[in-house]
Parts: sequence; C-alpha cells; structure tokens
Amino acid sequence: MKIGFIGLGNMGAPMARNLADAGYDVTGFDLEPDLCRIAADKLTIADDVASASCGRDIVITMLPNGLAVRDVATEAIPAMQKSACFIDCSTVDIRTATDVATMIDSAGLCGLDAPVSGGVGGAKAGTLTFMVGGSLEALRLANPLLDVMGQQIIHCGDAGAGQAAKICNNMILGATMIVTCEAFALADNLGLDRQKLFDVVSTSSGSSWSMNSYCPVAGVGPKTPADNDYKPGFSTAMMVKDLALAQDASKMTGTGTSLGKAALTIYEDFATTVDAANEDFSAILTVIKQP
Ligand code: NAD
Repeated sequence: MKIGFIGLGNMGAPMARNLADAGYDVTGFDLEPDLCRIAADKLTIADDVASASCGRDIVITMLPNGLAVRDVATEAIPAMQKSACFIDCSTVDIRTATDVATMIDSAGLCGLDAPVSGGVGGAKAGTLTFMVGGSLEALRLANPLLDVMGQQIIHCGDAGAGQAAKICNNMILGATMIVTCEAFALADNLGLDRQKLFDVVSTSSGSSWSMNSYCPVAGVGPKTPADNDYKPGFSTAMMVKDLALAQDASKMTGTGTSLGKAALTIYEDFATTVDAANEDFSAILTVIKQP
C-alpha cells in the first residue's frame, strides 16, 4: 500500500517513520525543507503536496491548524486517485473537518477525521489513541495503518465526530489541570503536604489523568514535565488552541461551557507570560500558586 504523509513535524515525523518501519511505501512532504531532509532516511520526499498525494492509496495529514488542513486538502484531493482515502490526524475545528469531508465525497474518495491523543511520546512509541469520524468503510481501509501508529482506535461517528471527541477530551483536560493546581495551592495554604494530597486524591474520587499520570508538582507522582522544568509534553500554546476550538464548538451549538470558557481565559493569560510553545501546560501551577 502506498502512503502519502503531509506534515512531518513533532507528531507527523514519528508517525510516518513508524509506517515506513512497518514496511509501507511512504512518501512525505513538509513546507520545512529541514524536516524533509531529516525524514529522508526513511521516507521518499516529494516536491509538493500534489506529488505526495498522486498515486497514493492513502494520504495522511498531520498539520498545525484548520487553515493548513484546508490548503493541503485543496491541493491533495484533486491529485488523488479515485477510491483513495484522505485521513486528517490534525486537531482542527469541526467545520473544517466536515467541509473537507464534503470535498472528499465530491471527488469520489473516502476519508476520515482521526485526531489523536498521546503526544509526541505516543507518536514515537506507536501508542496513540485515534478518535475517528467518518464511514466504517474508510475506517476498514485505514485500520491497519492506524494500528501501526496507535493502540486505541475508537470510531466516534460520522465526519467531524473524531474532532468532536478530541475537543471535548481536551476541554476536560484543561479544566482538570487548573483545578488540580488550585487544589495543590489550597493544600499548601492549609499546611497539607503535597505528597499526602497526591496519595489521597490519586486513589480517591478526585482522581484524574492530570493528577495521577501528569502530576503538575515536581517530585510527586510519576515522572512528568514538572520534573523536567516544564518542558513539553503538551505545550501551553496547544492547550490554548484546543480550548479555543472547544469554545468555537460551544458557540456553534449554543452549549453552556462556563468552566471550559474560564479555562481558556486562564490559559490565554498564562500564555502571555511564558514562551507558550515551549512551556508545558501543567506549568499553570506556577501562577496559580501566586497569592
Ligand atoms: P508541528 O508544528 O510540529 O508540525 C506541523 C507541521 O506541518 C510543520 O512541520 C509544518 O511545517 C507543516 N505544515 C504546515 N502547513 C503545511 C503545508 N501547507 N504543507 C505541508 N506541511 C505543512 O505540530 P505537531 O506538534 O506535529 O502537531 C500536529 C497536529 O497534531 C496539530 O494539529 C496538533 O494540535 C495535534 N496534536 C499535537 C500533539 C502534540 O503533543 N504535539 C498531541 C496531540 C495532537
């Protein structure tokens, strides 16, 4: 099976490498020539999006935002052969996902929105979770590839449902990280040892992934970005992006998401005080602790 892979950044490069290591014939493209050069040891590098897509059975995109996905889809889809499959693994707004699905249908192709959870570590290890929107027929075609890149593949529904799941998940993640940090600040002020708070909460009804697996306090719980000077992990800039997508979706559907909205404001404010692309989102602890 011939694969085109567009977007060879932090996530895309290891995902494409895993496919090549599994024996797939992968042609890659990125706007950044340096990233193409680095990936050239495992992938064939194309000159542009159209040539990375032409003659491929499946084209996968891993791009920074909805605008890039629309641009790439506009170039890739007309170059693709009939019955080929276009899979967007980026995190984008639902409108982009459904508009791209319409382009795919009109061109006689099949496609999926398949955003991921698991970060760069999961991309390297091939242990991502895929949240998939689109037809079961397209998923059947894509499944062997998703299996190489990930561990969990969840079909969430029609086109856009994968993005819907991703946006809801990350809204929960942002809000729980903030309240977890608030609990540590409150514990400090109550004279409660941080390790004791972790021991109790991680085995009680307040437990969450933010506390148990990604504890924002250095030296408490498993090794996390807090133990590495808050190097990402999952950057503050990405959390702002995903919380903003959740607010777009809330407005589009008229859903009251007041905690999600507050989380966005808190992260937007924090992002102005740090190098947001290079500061893990759990570093929000450092500002919540301020009196
Ligand atoms: P990244 O910025 O490292 O990579 C994106 C790549 O796309 C860049 O190399 C860029 O040059 C390339 N690109 C942009 N426009 C292009 C175009 N028109 N043609 C070809 N290449 C183009 O970002 P990333 O960290 O790899 O994230 C990619 C996506 O995955 C994002 O949507 C992000 O929200 C999502 N995501 C990231 C993480 C994470 O931990 N990094 C986790 C889950 C989901």
